[in-house]
Amino acid sequence: MRRIYMDANATTPLLPEVIEAMRPYWMEHFGNASSIHLDGQRARSAIDRARETMAEFFNCHDAEVVFNSGGTEGDNTAIFGLLHPGDHFVTTSIEHSAVLQAAQRVAGRGVEVTFVDPLPSGLIDPEEIRRALRPETRLISVMLANNETGVLQPVEEIGKIAAEAGAYFHIDAVQGAGKVPFDVRRFGCHLCSISAHKMHGPKGVGAMFVRRGTPIESLIVGGSHERRRRAGTENVAGIVGLARATELAMHSLEDGTMDRVAKLRDRLEAGLLALPGTGLNGAQIPGAPGLDSETWESNPVPRAANTTNIWFDSLEGEALVIALDLKGVSVSGGSACHSGATEPSHVLMAMGLDKTRARASLRFSLLKTATEADIDYVLQVVPQAVGHLRAISPVAAGTLG
Ligand code: PLP
Repeated sequence: MRRIYMDANATTPLLPEVIEAMRPYWMEHFGNASSIHLDGQRARSAIDRARETMAEFFNCHDAEVVFNSGGTEGDNTAIFGLLHPGDHFVTTSIEHSAVLQAAQRVAGRGVEVTFVDPLPSGLIDPEEIRRALRPETRLISVMLANNETGVLQPVEEIGKIAAEAGAYFHIDAVQGAGKVPFDVRRFGCHLCSISAHKMHGPKGVGAMFVRRGTPIESLIVGGSHERRRRAGTENVAGIVGLARATELAMHSLEDGTMDRVAKLRDRLEAGLLALPGTGLNGAQIPGAPGLDSETWESNPVPRAANTTNIWFDSLEGEALVIALDLKGVSVSGGSACHSGATEPSHVLMAMGLDKTRARASLRFSLLKTATEADIDYVLQVVPQAVGHLRAISPVAAGTLG
C-alpha cells in the first residue's frame, strides 16, 4: 500500500544531501573536536563551518550560536538558565510542552508565571503580552509558529514590547525554522531555539541563538564546549546534518518550494472544508471581539505554509487518525495521550474550542516533498473515512456521555 506522510510537524525524514554530508563524520572523520591532532581538527573545522551556516541562518555572529540536542533543550535552557526565584515570566498557554512544563517547574521554585491565552484565531495579541508585564518580568517566551495550527505569532511586535520593558525575549522557533524568512535581529529576541529534525535534519540535534551578553546559565555542565554554554562532546555528524538541512531549508524558501507547499496545503484545506460539518482551526472567527466581517475577510491569520488543522464534527479524531493510517495516510490528532486517557489539545482548548470539537480535530502537516498526487489521494480517502465513522459514531448518534 502506498503511504503518504502528512505529519511533518512531528518529524521529517533526512534528505539524501543531509545523509551524504553527515556520513564522513561517523566514519573516517570520527575525531573529537576537542582533540588537538588532525582527526580532532577535522571535526573542529566541520563544526566551525556549521556554525557559520547557522549564524547566516539566524543572522547573528558565529559566537552567538550554541549547538544542543534540539528544541526541548533550547526551550528548557532559556527558562531554567535565566529565571530565579522572585522573577516574573510571561509565556502563552499554547506553547509546546517543552516550555509549559519548564514554566510549571520554575513556578514551583518561586518564579511567578503568567500564561497569556490566544485569541480564538490562535493568534497571541501582543497587547495582552504588554498587559501581563510587571516590573519584575525578566523573560518573555512566545513561539514563532504553533505546532498544531501553524499560526505564526507576531514575534516582531512582541520583541519591541520586550525591549521597551527591558525583559529578555525567547522564541521557540522549532516549527517556524525553514518555513518563514528568519532573522533574529528583526525578531528582536535574545534567545531562539530550533531543532534539526523538523526540517529534514537528524533527530537529537538543534541550535540556539544566544544574543551576546545574555546571562544564560548553562543547563549541562562539564567541559568547556560551546564557550561553556553547553557541555558535552559535540555531536559532529548531527551538527553537520543540521547545517546542511538548514542550507537546504533556506534554499527552499527562496526557490519557490514553500510557495508550492502552501498551494498544495490550500487545495487540501479547501477540499476538506468542502465536507459538511468541518471547520478550520487557526482562522479568524466571525464575530470575534474587534473584528467586523470585512476585516475578517481581508485579514487571514498568518500560518506556516505546510500546516492545516481541521475539525470534523460527529466523530472522534483518534478514530479518524487510525482509519487514515489503515489507508496509508499518517496524520496527527490535536490531542495528547496522558496515562491512557486522550486529552483534548491544550492549544485548541485555549483557543476556545469545546472538548468535543477539540477531540475531533486533525492536523495535516505537509513535507516539502509533498506532491499533487498525495493531495489527490488524501482528498479521496478522508471523505470515505469520515462518512464511515460518522455512520457508526456514537458521537453522531448522541449516545456518548
Ligand atoms: N517546540 C515546538 C513548537 C515543537 O513542535 C517541538 C517538537 O515537536 C519542540 C519544541 C521540541 O523539539 P525537539 O523534538 O527537538 O526536542
